[in-house]
Amino acid sequence: MGIFDQNNNSSSGGFSGRFISALLIVVLGLFMYFCQEQENPVTGEQQHVSISPSEEIKLGLQSAPAMSQKMGGELSASDPRAQEVKKMGAFLVTHTVASHSPWKFQFHLLADTKMINAFALPGGQVFITLGLLNALQTEAQLAGVLSHEMGHVIERHSAQQIAKGQLGALLVSAVTVASTDPQNREGAYAPAVIASVVNQMAQLRYSRKDESQADEWGLKLMTESGYDPRAMIEVMKILKSSGGKESSPEIFQTHPNPDLRIKQIEAYLEQHPPAQGLREGRKLKEVFGS
Ligand SMILES: [Zn+2]
Repeated sequence: MGIFDQNNNSSSGGFSGRFISALLIVVLGLFMYFCQEQENPVTGEQQHVSISPSEEIKLGLQSAPAMSQKMGGELSASDPRAQEVKKMGAFLVTHTVASHSPWKFQFHLLADTKMINAFALPGGQVFITLGLLNALQTEAQLAGVLSHEMGHVIERHSAQQIAKGQLGALLVSAVTVASTDPQNREGAYAPAVIASVVNQMAQLRYSRKDESQADEWGLKLMTESGYDPRAMIEVMKILKSSGGKESSPEIFQTHPNPDLRIKQIEAYLEQHPPAQGLREGRKLKEVFGS
């Protein structure tokens, strides 16, 4: 058969055509990712973020009900424990640099007693489960958990993950384009599926660096608002010890390595020794009268 017959067979682009399209998508994706730089409103650091602070706040607000629903729903605002979480959150915001940020911080107590977890949505929605609150002993520890989550918001970790996710989605379509041979559609899925799994992993997990940053913010915000940052070490120990029970804390899936984090926190506190007079706060048992 002649060379012209082969060209006729691949009228939809041929391998080199598809490869060039794929390459163009990758280049475009990388170009968009690296062009989308914004200055962090609190730290001044240049970050790859694709959405504006107001979009980020809207995204968080709109996803908050669905997130709450997944964890037993939000406790009634009249519940004294929910009030305490909101009060502590508001105190941390008004007494720290967080008050000069664009983020609309709101604090939610979720009814799930089995799940030991805390997390933040982009823009300032912060959640803690009753399971975790019940495991904490002092106000300073609660301040530690909430401050850590506020750190994720201030550093815009989710927004950065979203920007990476968009990049990932573009890379997936590039892989699909490159591997979709019109003669053999069945063979096209594997690389695309792999790419999409990698993409999802990149989206769902904060990096170890993000966690260390959030821990450091936790210590800073605690100190700034008058709470003893050493309570953060107690929080890590509480998480670690509840890890041995039958309901292993969800928080370990998103916040692994408590031992490593304790070491990093201790190293930070050695370099930034806590001032005299920082408080532990009341015992939560006394606050809730139980
Ligand atoms: Zn975290």
